[in-house]
Amino acid sequence: MNPEETSNKNLCLPAPGTRVLITGITGQDGYYLARLLLAQGCHVTGGLHPSDLRAGDALRTEFPNLILLPCDLENDGAVAELVAAAQPGIIYHLAAQSSVRRSWEAPLGTARANALGTLALLDGMRAHSPDAAFIIAGSCDCYDHAAAGAKGVTPETPFWVTNPYAASKVFAQQLTRCYRDEYGLRAAVAIFFNHTSPRRHEMFVERGIVRNAARVKLGLARAITIGSWETVRDWSWAPELMEAFAAMGALDQPRDLVLASGRALTVRDWVEQALRQLDLKPEQVQVDASRLHAGDRPHTFGNIERTRAVLGWSPRVGLAEMVRLLIAHDLRELGDSVRTQT
Ligand code: NDP
Repeated sequence: MNPEETSNKNLCLPAPGTRVLITGITGQDGYYLARLLLAQGCHVTGGLHPSDLRAGDALRTEFPNLILLPCDLENDGAVAELVAAAQPGIIYHLAAQSSVRRSWEAPLGTARANALGTLALLDGMRAHSPDAAFIIAGSCDCYDHAAAGAKGVTPETPFWVTNPYAASKVFAQQLTRCYRDEYGLRAAVAIFFNHTSPRRHEMFVERGIVRNAARVKLGLARAITIGSWETVRDWSWAPELMEAFAAMGALDQPRDLVLASGRALTVRDWVEQALRQLDLKPEQVQVDASRLHAGDRPHTFGNIERTRAVLGWSPRVGLAEMVRLLIAHDLRELGDSVRTQT
């Protein structure tokens, strides 16, 4: 299977010509969502953080039809102006300070961008595009995985928050629901579980494992370092997850849905797969428990029964395929940079 192709052929995506606003356009998900919706013939405006001018240039070169407008979630007035200028039929709200680790270093900035920035966007939409659909990237980190138990997390699972990132996302998710109920906005929450791609930053565990395994293979590093073998998460392939996210915006009445693979994997699964595919040895892995936070909890997985039923979407790319695609990318990119330096 070519994972670059739309894997769910019958998915109902926004109609060609739909005006779409994507915040967080320079992030992993913003890129894949924009690529999908531009190919679909949508009229796409991306919200560009003022610090991202270079990344904006790269996007303009790759997607000449993409319109880029400034978006600073910490500036309420600018957020409202963005909605007024884009006049979207659908807002896909991806922009966020997305790292749990960074949220400990910058809790106030995280809360301003993720919580208050979302509130500013909802207010901007109410003022300038009240008929638009609004889909926010929520997070599995907000939920009580122990309470979800063996059935996995659903939109009804209670919240349980252990870090500033999750707290900011709970605020944003709940305000989205309040605005839907109070003002009748077509707003919904996509509860994202972990998803990855070559565009994911290597500070995230699975991306760091594969990237460092490729470095070890090329003789650029001695070891792959992890915080724990047993951390459990639900990981998907980002381009595929963006198909489901895009389809959520095309529903007449957006629904809160879990976007995940529906299966629990461990860090051990990722490491063993990378070692096997690169023919490396377990002795080339080291554990550094200082990478863990007191609030790091075992996760379960997302329950995607409702998502399958509502969207007709199913994940197809499994662990072996994700690792294969990441390794192919990393060996090529790291190999190129070695050749340039010699
Ligand atoms: P990224 O970190 O790759 O992208 C985040 C985007 O938001 C970047 O374009 C970033 O710009 C932008 N941004 C950050 N702060 C601001 C700000 N103050 N004003 C305007 N823009 C800002 O995240 P992903 O693409 O991986 O994730 C997308 C969404 O999904 C996020 O909301 C994340 O929290 C959520 N999510 C993601 C998961 C995953 O596994 N990827 C799992 C669960 C939830 P800049 O580069 O300048 O910071």
